[in-house]
Amino acid sequence: MLAGNRIAEGALPLAQAYAGHQFGHFTMLGDGRALLLGEQITPQGERVDIQLKGSGRTPYSRGGDGRAALGPMLREYIISEAMHALGIPTTRSLAVVATGQSVMRETELPGAVLTRVAASHLRVGTFQYAANWGTIEDLRALADYTLHRHFPEIDAVENRYLVLLREVIKRQAVLIAKWQLVGFIHGVMNTDNMALSGETIDYGPCAFMDVYDPATVFSSIDIQSRRYAYGNQPHIAAWNLARFAETLLPLLHDNEEQAVKLAEDAISDFTELYHRNWLAGMREKLGILNEEPQDESFIEDLLSMMQKYRADYTNTFRALTFDKPEDTDLYGSTEFAQWHERWQERLGRQQEPKASSHELMRNSNPAVIPRNHRVEEALEAAVKEGDYSVMERLLHVRFEPLRAFPRTSRLRRTSGAIVPSFPNLLRYLI
Ligand code: AMP
Ligand code: MG
Repeated sequence: MLAGNRIAEGALPLAQAYAGHQFGHFTMLGDGRALLLGEQITPQGERVDIQLKGSGRTPYSRGGDGRAALGPMLREYIISEAMHALGIPTTRSLAVVATGQSVMRETELPGAVLTRVAASHLRVGTFQYAANWGTIEDLRALADYTLHRHFPEIDAVENRYLVLLREVIKRQAVLIAKWQLVGFIHGVMNTDNMALSGETIDYGPCAFMDVYDPATVFSSIDIQSRRYAYGNQPHIAAWNLARFAETLLPLLHDNEEQAVKLAEDAISDFTELYHRNWLAGMREKLGILNEEPQDESFIEDLLSMMQKYRADYTNTFRALTFDKPEDTDLYGSTEFAQWHERWQERLGRQQEPKASSHELMRNSNPAVIPRNHRVEEALEAAVKEGDYSVMERLLHVRFEPLRAFPRTSRLRRTSGAIVPSFPNLLRYLI
């Protein structure tokens, strides 16, 4: 089933149409190598999509073969599961199944099918498709469906489509702030890769930042433009949300000018919402439990020093958490020593004991992230040598913040295929 060879009873698999702005250019897209097997209600009562990625050609494949290579599918598996463990909303990976067939890229590569579990696959691009090629009734039906599926609590209110827009904006503000706080770089923030559920979706050339530098990019296609660089992600999110808002205009108000005004007001709130989430998260990363107006410049001072001294993002916050000096240029500098003193004074100006700050920091700063070179190492061993032990070790690392968490995924190898043991989900699969 997870290789796409059998369909579960009652399932009506389908490929979804969508459009999207890819690196700023609008185009017709769709599930060119993915197939939605169906929806599943989990034991907790949540409705999820179960989708195969790499399962073959569909009407939206254009020139592509509809297939996926093992390396990138394992990559999505590792990173999405790590994101989940880090407490960041994301689609999950249920399994990667090696197909035994090869796919032709620059070279011949082993093929695989990823099973993705998502709150839904509704994207900004789904609305762009409906707005461009559908009728207004189609658009309304899609908006109603999205409301019903993701925001059932706001089903009955007046101007529900404006509420939809505002809620999607809110979720993205939360999500992007979480990305920035953990140093995650998505890499391909095209509008078709922005899910309306607020989950991270479509892991391509993504990575966690090592050295703190807002200009960091990992995608080789993006090196030139740096459109999707770390520091640009909040701006791109706002840009994508503006594309979403555009699609909703005919539903927002009968008068176009009024509709534009409503949409613009909603979009302009994103920056403030994002910023509030980010600042709250940064305070937590530094163990700050109350608010002072100068906190932001204090945080900016740390970040600019980190950039100047090329400090590792994760390790710096980890070192602060344990207040253990590191042998780095940052820690060796006088300006950092002065900042550190200010930080200690700042912590002293709150009621709560030091232990509360420490605990907050432990909960907010991951000790380990899936470093790009580690991920590459794991993929190389798996793809080139069929050795999955490196990947298994990586998946068993606790990526979550420093507090204890139940382990989420375990790998089980079955004759060439890798199937993680998710007893609950597997049992209830379609
Ligand atoms: P992505 O970069 O994964 O977000 O994909 C962008 C678009 O290209 C989507 O419409 C995909 O379905 C399509 N696509 C990517 N790879 C293939 C492939 N091997 N065959 C057909 N379509 C593909
Ligand atoms: Mg995509």
